Amino acid sequence: MRNTKTPAVLISEVGPRDGLQSVDAVMATADKFKWITALHAAGLREIEVGSFVPAKLLPQMAGTADVVRHALTLPGLTVMALVPNLRGAQAALAAGVHKLTIPVSASAAHSLANVRKTREEMVAEVRNIVALRNEIAPSVKIEANMSTAFGCTIQGEVKEDDVVWLATQVIAAGADESGLSDTTGMANPAQVRRLFNKVRAAIGDKTGAAHMHNTRGLGLANCLAAYDVGVRTFDASLGGLGGCPYAPGASGNVVTEDLVFMFEAMGVPTGIDIGKLIAARAPLIAGLPGEPVYGMTPEAGLPKGFVPARSTEAADV
Ligand code: ZN
Repeated sequence: MRNTKTPAVLISEVGPRDGLQSVDAVMATADKFKWITALHAAGLREIEVGSFVPAKLLPQMAGTADVVRHALTLPGLTVMALVPNLRGAQAALAAGVHKLTIPVSASAAHSLANVRKTREEMVAEVRNIVALRNEIAPSVKIEANMSTAFGCTIQGEVKEDDVVWLATQVIAAGADESGLSDTTGMANPAQVRRLFNKVRAAIGDKTGAAHMHNTRGLGLANCLAAYDVGVRTFDASLGGLGGCPYAPGASGNVVTEDLVFMFEAMGVPTGIDIGKLIAARAPLIAGLPGEPVYGMTPEAGLPKGFVPARSTEAADV
């Protein structure tokens, strides 16, 4: 039995990046500040606040350097940004991020569509970014997550051996961790358990986050499967905002509110106040008028007498 108020899992909020980049509307930078402040107030301690990509490609991500600077004022927050290449990493490190996340496609076809590079070229890019980090900002962490780890809308099946090979490659290139992303919403729980186990056998405690989508309704089941095999960091998006522009039909990140409810109800502390988390939907909705947001827990409300895990003993699960 653990008796603790220390979070047992880390919920990494990706809405301000993954969510915002996949809707057409552009949230004003001032509205991003308000939203990120509300997410932090709810107890989130890692937020992917944006990506460093050319504004002409993704106008939703213009102003990310300003968003980083705002997020750096929030105490205890790990400020993360996505970078697809060395140029993005230079801008992110100049802005002062704590952590870089580099998407590396396990699918050869998705890699070319998403970042216009082969997988081998992306491994080389990871190596270049690591060298830059080592030179100018050695305390910054680098994660290189496998997108399309569970299947690809372009090429279909992605071989598990390919995922394990690529995870091994990016860790050898110097990334601190490598997680698995179900970019296309094709994963099932048995596959999640099997693939995380295989990757852990290859890269050990450098195995990173589970990034699951709810495209076919299995997002939470897949997170629980990952938890069962030792994963303790989970990406999620407030209101389920997000998807991938190069994985058509793959909208729907796991809803942060529902994921936090699941863990808290199980007795697994997240460090997040669900009431304040649901309140953080207001600045999201205000900043993106008319954009649909999702989530069962915010609609149903908390069950009568619900006691969050952090005020109780964590259950043996
Ligand atoms: Zn996603």
